[in-house]
Amino acid sequence: MPAPRVVAVAPGSAAARAGIDVGDEVLSLNGRVPRDVIQWRRLADDADIDVEVRRRGRSIPLTVTKRDGEPLGAEVSSALFDRVRTCDNHCAFCFIYQLPQGLRSSLYLKDDDYRLSFLYGNFTTLTRFTEADLERVLLEGLSPLNVSIHATDPDVRATMLRNRRGATSLRWLRALLDHSVTVHGQVVVCPGVNDGAVLEDTLAGVLDEYPELASLCLVPLGVSRYNREPDMRPHTPAEAATVVDAAADWQDIYVGALGRRLVHAADEYYLLADRPFPAAEVYEGFPMHEDGVGMARTFERELLGLVAEPTGVQNGFFAWVDGAPADGYRAPRKPPADTGFVCANSHDRSDSDHTSAPVALLTGEYGARVLTPLLAGIGRPDVRVLPVVNEFFGGNTAVTGLMVGADIGRVLAVEPAGGRYLLPDVCLSEGRFLDGTTPADLPRPVEVVATDGIALREALA
Ligand code: SF4
Repeated sequence: MPAPRVVAVAPGSAAARAGIDVGDEVLSLNGRVPRDVIQWRRLADDADIDVEVRRRGRSIPLTVTKRDGEPLGAEVSSALFDRVRTCDNHCAFCFIYQLPQGLRSSLYLKDDDYRLSFLYGNFTTLTRFTEADLERVLLEGLSPLNVSIHATDPDVRATMLRNRRGATSLRWLRALLDHSVTVHGQVVVCPGVNDGAVLEDTLAGVLDEYPELASLCLVPLGVSRYNREPDMRPHTPAEAATVVDAAADWQDIYVGALGRRLVHAADEYYLLADRPFPAAEVYEGFPMHEDGVGMARTFERELLGLVAEPTGVQNGFFAWVDGAPADGYRAPRKPPADTGFVCANSHDRSDSDHTSAPVALLTGEYGARVLTPLLAGIGRPDVRVLPVVNEFFGGNTAVTGLMVGADIGRVLAVEPAGGRYLLPDVCLSEGRFLDGTTPADLPRPVEVVATDGIALREALA
């Protein structure tokens, strides 16, 4: 098992005082070898820790003097130090199978690891979950978790996952719920596969078998131009409307039976069906905001100044593959500036230009449909929205989180110099787009803005 490598040490922290250095490999904490950043944090929480590090091939014992609960102040390079548990399913709808060749290798890794579900909100099918995993989840309080349900009918689920264990692995969902673990569920709705009557059956099955689920989101199948599965196709607007209606009908049923709405359709469905988004209170606290459920409403509230804090975490697509967030699990990855944005590539613009220059917002095609009326509503017709058509992935890929440098560069290349071009940070992971380029590669300077309405409002002020 590779030892975790220290990538940052906070000045004046307990780690700095003990002489822990960037580049050190941490072999043990109090004699124990942490398997992942969850164990790391638990071990590092103790008072006065004996730390063994490897530096330039030599093992060095260090003593960290600190109070119980005082942060260690050392950040490590990855979330999992042992191997990530990979997925043994072969879903026809898997987006990883639909990636173009030649991207960084970490993007092709299919994970099905409950620890990444806890740390980053990844979804797990539980097909590789074990009794020992359940024990650890309960012992260490690893809650909430996100579980891919797709269908409650065992045969349909096994067929969708192309794994016979898919028929039985929801028994672990039952076990998690029995032990009061908070679990959010997801159904990736594939037209002709698990929509229509199958979806109705699943929503009924959730009520019968898993009524303690904290929430259930319905998200549409994403189909890139590299899809090779003939049965996988995007929803038609009529099919999207059917899903929106099913969510609304079942919200009524769930409210009657459970006192809460439970199920929510992703924002994409409302855009595709050309229906208004539900009111903010319908989302019951936006539990699956990270999964694209209610983002339009939260963005609106933030932009209008109706809330003081942004909603949820914007880790970005594939965020987990590039290492653990600095503050441990579920820490927001926002640019550091107090203003909510940083100039990523602003070498050719003076400060005086900054306030007077025309502003344009780069966003995906779906984001453009949300932002355009919002900007008109706040009296900023001067701010242009620049939709970035996703030719890189193609198909029905239109979300902002999957924008890449190649497409943004094509849009910016025909825009005038001297403008302010704001770029939401959700399309960046550790400063890189999914195609491996960075904002510095773009033909115009851009300002990277945290992907929430508050940061945008401040950037436009
Ligand atoms: S479970 Fe997830 S990662 Fe695994 S094949 Fe299915 S969609 Fe892909």
